[in-house]
Amino acid sequence: MNIILLGPPGAGKGTQAARLEKERGMVQLSTGDMLRAAVKAGTPVGLKVKAVMEAGELVSDAIVSALIGERLDGDAANGAIFDGYPRTQAQAEALDVLLRERNRSLDHVIELEVDEAALVDRVTGRFTCAQCGTGYHDRYKLPVVSGVCDVCGSAEFKRRPDDNAETVRTRMSEYRAKTAPILPFYEALGIVQRIDGMAAMDKVSGEIASILDRD
Ligand code: ADP
Ligand code: ZN
Repeated sequence: MNIILLGPPGAGKGTQAARLEKERGMVQLSTGDMLRAAVKAGTPVGLKVKAVMEAGELVSDAIVSALIGERLDGDAANGAIFDGYPRTQAQAEALDVLLRERNRSLDHVIELEVDEAALVDRVTGRFTCAQCGTGYHDRYKLPVVSGVCDVCGSAEFKRRPDDNAETVRTRMSEYRAKTAPILPFYEALGIVQRIDGMAAMDKVSGEIASILDRD
């Protein structure tokens, strides 16, 4: 099965993709994670995209589509959850070709609908455990013992450099201008489902599960 999770920054795509990966053995293909890994490793791609990501702008379509293509022939050969990709019409067309070349197709495009005002608040307070990746939030979910990860006990946490109010606003306007307009492309195929991304995380997971189990 190949599905796309679509929604603005902070909509919960990454959280839901990680759950699907754990519960169903699906493979999460997050271009954001791939790019952050490239930046961290200092690869040529990483050096090229660092400033663009920090500004909240989109990196080039060619770079992200190449990253996705590599993974489709690797660990995601049997199915994928696309998270943060495609983000432009050109990427949607590139994905179409990448899948077609491999005799694969999209099963679902799930759009997480969220209230934009709440998103800035969600994104600007979030941080994760540097060891195990568990997510926390300054206002909604602090570790039980201050400064210690509930899950693994690590005292090291990290924040994304692009999770500040100004950059989040740029990311949202990029979403509105370039990503939301690709929905009609998928609507024409009859594969778009919308769910309420403001609901509790478990409720969102339940709704995604019922969409995936329908067929
Ligand atoms: P979020 O959905 O929270 O904004 P991501 O982790 O998906 O975050 O992406 C972080 C940044 O990485 C984006 O702001 C952009 O600079 C870059 N990026 C990720 N995926 C893409 C993509 N498909 N096309 C262009 N740029 C991307
Ligand atoms: Zn941890």
